Amino acid sequence: MLLAAAAPAGATEPAREFGEVVDYPLVFPVGGDATVGDRSGFWDGRSDGTHHAQDILAPKLTPVYAAATGTVVYVNYSRNPAALNPERCCTLIVAHDDGWESWYIHLNNDSPGTDDGLAWGIAPGILPGTRVEAGQVIGYVGDSGNCDTIEGCPPHLHFELRDPADVIVDAYQALWTAEQALRAAEGAAPACTPAGVAPLAYLLSGTGLLRRGDSGPAVYELQGFLKLRGFDPGPLDGTFSSATYQAVQTFQRRRGLDADGVVGPATRGAILSLTQQSRFARLVADGDALVQRERGPRVRELKRWLLLAGYDPLSIGPRFSAATTYAVQAFQQATPGLAVDGRADLATRLALARAIHLIWPGDCP
Ligand SMILES: [Zn+2]
Repeated sequence: MLLAAAAPAGATEPAREFGEVVDYPLVFPVGGDATVGDRSGFWDGRSDGTHHAQDILAPKLTPVYAAATGTVVYVNYSRNPAALNPERCCTLIVAHDDGWESWYIHLNNDSPGTDDGLAWGIAPGILPGTRVEAGQVIGYVGDSGNCDTIEGCPPHLHFELRDPADVIVDAYQALWTAEQALRAAEGAAPACTPAGVAPLAYLLSGTGLLRRGDSGPAVYELQGFLKLRGFDPGPLDGTFSSATYQAVQTFQRRRGLDADGVVGPATRGAILSLTQQSRFARLVADGDALVQRERGPRVRELKRWLLLAGYDPLSIGPRFSAATTYAVQAFQQATPGLAVDGRADLATRLALARAIHLIWPGDCP
């Protein structure tokens, strides 16, 4: 039986049975080419009963997305942000705003290329109490927990879905629908990595004043730039909010400018001079790929971009480490149209610039 789900919180929900198949609206929770596979998984036997979940196979470090908008309630079964049970890394539970829950088990706990159990496969900033949007990166696929001790257990996401009465339902149909929607969207809107569009093109080419209340491409790029340089402009939504105003003022003070919170010629000039520094300019213009074992300021800048986009290279040093390669690969896997080779070529870097709001998405054909 299929049931329409997602009744608003507080409305009367039908009583469901353990293992009932539901068609609940989800974002497909795993990136890359991952697929829900066959539907047998829910009732598979396990030593402690039935499996009661769907397993989605994917390479280690493939991004895992929040299946619905809500709040992270448990990290490694802890509700306490100060005590995250690292020995039980890495699991997450998200409470959806409509009272349902999704569970994410076996997230990565290994340093790239190893099975050492020393890594933290939960995305930066994801803690008990963190609000997450559907589709936001919350972690990375791995083989932690009992998968680590089972011979031949491949990296995968173990995904459980619970209704507001805490009944575990079979998410197969919901995942299948979400996967179809994802593939259709990919077919309709192929990857967009506009080689001809320079980062901050709108922001730096404009001549007018940008101020509180303004909106549009230049403000969108301004917010991306501020965030990248460590100032908090609030939500990256292209609207010049009071948080954006305060971030502009802080930026102006640091650069010795009149801190009026208005972006005019002097502030544009300061932004331009920062983007002309080679670490930035060569990242967005040079044709050669950055690859593992390279070093230098361009690599450090690349790692800042990866971190801001939600792909943690584990350190922001000048060396293109194995962890950097994995972060680049994870980003490439999540971005249709990019070769998944761990090399930060120009197409990858421009796609990254789009991901961190340095390029207005409206420029995509
Ligand atoms: Zn499982």
